[in-house]
Amino acid sequence: MLAMDTQATISGDRPDFSNHWMPFTANRDFHREPKMLCRAQGCHYYGERGQQILDGCSGLFTTPAGHARAEIADAVRDQLLTLDYAPSFTRGHPQSFRLASSIADLTPEGMDRIFFGNSGSEAVETALKVALAYHRARGEGGRDLFVSRERAYHGVNFGGIALSGMVPNRRAFGPAGPRVVHMRHTWLEQNRGTMGQPVHGSELADDLERLVALHGAENIAACVVEPIAGSTGVLVPPQGYLERLRELCTRYGILLIFDEVITGFGRLGHNYAAQAFGVTPDIITMAKAITNGAQPMAAVAVSREIHDTIVDAAPEGQVEFFHGYTFSAHPASCAAALATLNIYRNESLFDRARQMSAHFLERIASLQDLELVTDVRGYGLLAGVDLAPLERPGLRGHIAQKRMFDAGLHLKTTGDAAIIAPAFIMETEQIDTLIDTLRGVLVELAD
Ligand code: PMP
Repeated sequence: MLAMDTQATISGDRPDFSNHWMPFTANRDFHREPKMLCRAQGCHYYGERGQQILDGCSGLFTTPAGHARAEIADAVRDQLLTLDYAPSFTRGHPQSFRLASSIADLTPEGMDRIFFGNSGSEAVETALKVALAYHRARGEGGRDLFVSRERAYHGVNFGGIALSGMVPNRRAFGPAGPRVVHMRHTWLEQNRGTMGQPVHGSELADDLERLVALHGAENIAACVVEPIAGSTGVLVPPQGYLERLRELCTRYGILLIFDEVITGFGRLGHNYAAQAFGVTPDIITMAKAITNGAQPMAAVAVSREIHDTIVDAAPEGQVEFFHGYTFSAHPASCAAALATLNIYRNESLFDRARQMSAHFLERIASLQDLELVTDVRGYGLLAGVDLAPLERPGLRGHIAQKRMFDAGLHLKTTGDAAIIAPAFIMETEQIDTLIDTLRGVLVELAD
């Protein structure tokens, strides 16, 4: 039985579903069996019948401080009534500078030049353009090839899908966008069932050296990796792997870009994965948790050296970086992000994520005894659980995701992997409920 919340609105007539073409959704299936979220509070969503749904994925990795935070809502409202919109092309507004300084306080030393966008995908495109502009500014314009990884997800724009080593992208859209070559992903049979950083596989980073030998360092702009590949199943980097990538990038003049759209803002118990793993890249992309999900926003942190090289190369009075979005640094998004970072700081939520991690990962590991579970992995408050596939890859995940919703649990599935990312404010008992519900659904599905 699901817990019912008497305060939740029991919706009246359903809206007409025919006009909204939903993203990343099996639309026909959704129309037959709509899974609607109508309200959210703390660690819960509430559905159409007022039924309580535990949010096991912090929205979509967006909401670590829990839903409906009044401080954020108030800040957005105040901002909209003070300065609702301001272009940030050749005009400034105070909030964006304040926010950039607050983000620079969190990033690794020296990575303190911050560019704003509205989504993870935009952050990725921005990072690629920064890399190209940097090399051109140094007279190394031949460096236009990017290195990425199989089983990577870097968003949906052309740069992002070229980087993303995901087969469905190629199938749907072909090889569009910038030139990209791929290293292997870091999932290894020997590491099955490992929580934290696996022991085996640091040598996979040598794929970068192989690609340098093949394509020439003078042609390679940047190496782009998610420190933990999140959306493709939570692939934690083997011990020594990121360190080795850093070493090779430095040796060959290749920029190292960490896509921290999921791992940024405390998900691993540290500000960024860069600090969690002790490896400093040249560029960091971030989005998702930057406003606790309350407003669309993304940012790219760039080292001072890269920023200054690009800026100094342009003549006085000329735009130095020919890039930006109408809604870059939107005042309401800045206000939401400032309020969010205050909450993270005042409630020491990144520390809390680190403290809750041991219990969370232990409970995730306990799922290994299930017939349907083929692997479990995790770090911080982020975990992936692989499910045995049915006749078509992804079908098991699709069915599981629907059953979980019906059982009162919101999780993300990618292919046949369930991705779990609780809010940092979750109580131990809620984590237990999350795992118990997941276990119940998986046992039922095996039957
Ligand atoms: N990069 C990474 C690592 C991501 O996980 C995502 C989103 N899952 C993106 C980029 C794209 O972000 P968005 O959906 O906000 O465009």
